[in-house]
Amino acid sequence: MSTLRFQALQALAAGEEKKVSGYSEKKITHMFASNVFTARAQREYLSDEAYKSLTNSAKNGTKIERRLADQVAAGMKAWAEERGVTHFTHWFQPLTGTTAEKHDSFFTLKPDGTAIELFDGDALIQQEPDASSFPNGGIRATFEARGYTAWDPSSPAFIMEAGSGKTLCIPTIFIAYNGESLDYKAPLLKSIASLDKAAVDVCHYFDKNVSKVTATLGWEQEYFVIDETLANARPDLTMCGRALVGHSPAKGQQLEDHYFGSIPERVFAFMQDFEQESYKLGIPLRTRHNEVAPCQFECAPIFEEVNIAVDHNTLLMDVMAKVAKRHKLRALLHEKPFAGVNGSGKHNNWSLATDTGVNLLSPGKTPRTNLMFLTFFVNTIKAVHDYADLMRGAIASANNDHRLGANEAPPAIMSVYIGKYLTEVLNEVETRVKEKFSEQDEVILKLDIHKQIPELLMDNTDRNRTSPFAFTGNKFEFRAVGSSANCGSPMTVLNTIMAETLKKFKAEVDVLIEKGEKKEIAILQVLRSYISASKKIRFEGDNYSEEWAEEAKARGLNNFKTTPEALDAFITDSAKELFLSNNIFTRRELEARHEIMLEDYVKRLQIEARILGYMATNHILPAAVNYQNTLIENIKGLKEIGLEPSAYKAQLNLANVISRHIQSINDNVEAMIEARKRANNTEDMHKRAHMYCHEVKSYFDPIRYASDKLELIVDDKLWPLPKFRELLYMR
Ligand code: ADP
Ligand code: MG
Repeated sequence: MSTLRFQALQALAAGEEKKVSGYSEKKITHMFASNVFTARAQREYLSDEAYKSLTNSAKNGTKIERRLADQVAAGMKAWAEERGVTHFTHWFQPLTGTTAEKHDSFFTLKPDGTAIELFDGDALIQQEPDASSFPNGGIRATFEARGYTAWDPSSPAFIMEAGSGKTLCIPTIFIAYNGESLDYKAPLLKSIASLDKAAVDVCHYFDKNVSKVTATLGWEQEYFVIDETLANARPDLTMCGRALVGHSPAKGQQLEDHYFGSIPERVFAFMQDFEQESYKLGIPLRTRHNEVAPCQFECAPIFEEVNIAVDHNTLLMDVMAKVAKRHKLRALLHEKPFAGVNGSGKHNNWSLATDTGVNLLSPGKTPRTNLMFLTFFVNTIKAVHDYADLMRGAIASANNDHRLGANEAPPAIMSVYIGKYLTEVLNEVETRVKEKFSEQDEVILKLDIHKQIPELLMDNTDRNRTSPFAFTGNKFEFRAVGSSANCGSPMTVLNTIMAETLKKFKAEVDVLIEKGEKKEIAILQVLRSYISASKKIRFEGDNYSEEWAEEAKARGLNNFKTTPEALDAFITDSAKELFLSNNIFTRRELEARHEIMLEDYVKRLQIEARILGYMATNHILPAAVNYQNTLIENIKGLKEIGLEPSAYKAQLNLANVISRHIQSINDNVEAMIEARKRANNTEDMHKRAHMYCHEVKSYFDPIRYASDKLELIVDDKLWPLPKFRELLYMR
């Protein structure tokens, strides 16, 4: 048999793919950010005036004068050309979940026909990609295909290398002709501004020198790496990024021997290679290790300002995919590529930093700084409590549905873990601070909190790995984010709900201060009421347990298990109020976004359903029939030579079982196609998504079940699809 599966296996056995390594011996510091238009490069290539204007704009969002934009463009071009760049592109993050580029050459012709290289302020600031084919949720009718990309000066330009080609990439936002956002970055930038203002206002209770607060993000990216040739033999892996069928291997992760184990050489070469590419792009990768499942790995950078961190994560995902090809590998970023072993997530470590160098979620050393810490800490918990459904909505996707609540990842129920010490501190504030000023309050302020918190830093080991949102000493870790997701969405929500909560907090404290309460006492009193009001979101136990699901229900916490349900959070009155008042989304943008996410969900399931039907009919059933024919021949032969029926009982039985599975697959595929037709004929996107979720998708499991049973029965050499053990244990 020369199916792709066996060709790939032969190539693997011959070890042909093992020699690749383009890794240079350079020190990381020598290559770090060498392809980035860094502050240092800006200094060198820009006039003082242009440099200042750019720095100012990056820091404070001030507008760059047209004249200076021309200068910045000229400097960027000179810098890029010295590095062999011929083209530029506006680089953006449309709601497709990938990144987009449209390359233009610097080269142009003057009216008299002279060829020149040109890149001016206009080209830098704004472009008009043909936007009709990006998701827009009805914001732009297709005839009104105008969408614009607009330069984000707060994220530095960089050079993307592909083979010998080099392109200058300008990070941009992507908006419709009327300014409505069509991407992840525009709302993220707005949420950053909103949070900055609200957090600075609250900081001023403690420190008047703070003039800027930025959210910081350190993501941890999990992924699988498999052999490309093997992956190519599976339509599901190539088209959907996950295996739609496949029996789990005899050896999964039960021996727990993969986590932190040694990294296979071939994967290691790939890692070094993509790390090197990442360093050149200024992505500060710091850690790499094996994850729990076979062939699963993780990398994480040093945290950065959230806008840059999101850009870097999307860039990294892109770089990984490209570099993997070089190594004849496939990097799978899907949340659940293989049933039966763990899926992948992307922990989002989030905190707040002031321009005075303080991490606002890091416990302080004095009573005053501790009260500041407590303020931001409690406000975060309150924010998650008040907007838990939005947090859930922000991480909802067809892919992530496989993970949330699948007993390996945080459940779909939002809750906050803070650990023993801080629980005690909050309990103390809650029980001992009084409604009205009391001397007790002063005592608490001066002594207890101050004494207790530093211990927390000593012992971080009681981390709860099952919580979707956990405090880990000096930051919160949003763990339920999916591995293929753009962090922009959860970060926008988190920043916005924090901004809103801080605003309300300040208003309440101010009222008390106006009534004559001492500032610190007023703060403590509002904190006390927030601690009480947000209690039900706090959970310290095992989030994977049955009991928690029950308890959460009793507490009135939602458990939205599917994406269509979870996405409704974006169109509630409270969400509209929140996003409108913080200038993140208009009503129309919210509704469009909701529609886009539903559509994305539908499309993904539609593709999976098609591929599953195709594989069942064209790959699995023929293999089963083939093997059944062999059995039939065998039975006939045994009969012919006069053996008793007992001699071919097993064969008869097998042939019979195969028939049953064939029938089951056939019936379910037909029913699935019918369900798909019904769903596709449903105009309303919300209804259609629910139909895909509850009707179309319900056929996936029975089809898979029968297929996986067949995989166990059918002669190995007739089975056309690489098996999990081959995909996951290639070396
Ligand atoms: P681990 O959680 O794996 O033990 P760390 O706690 O050191 O390791 O860091 C995990 C991630 O948290 C890293 O990606 C790191 O960049 C990020 N991180 C650390 N501090 C902050 C912070 N103040 N803000 C945002 N992310 C942070
Ligand atoms: Mg991890």
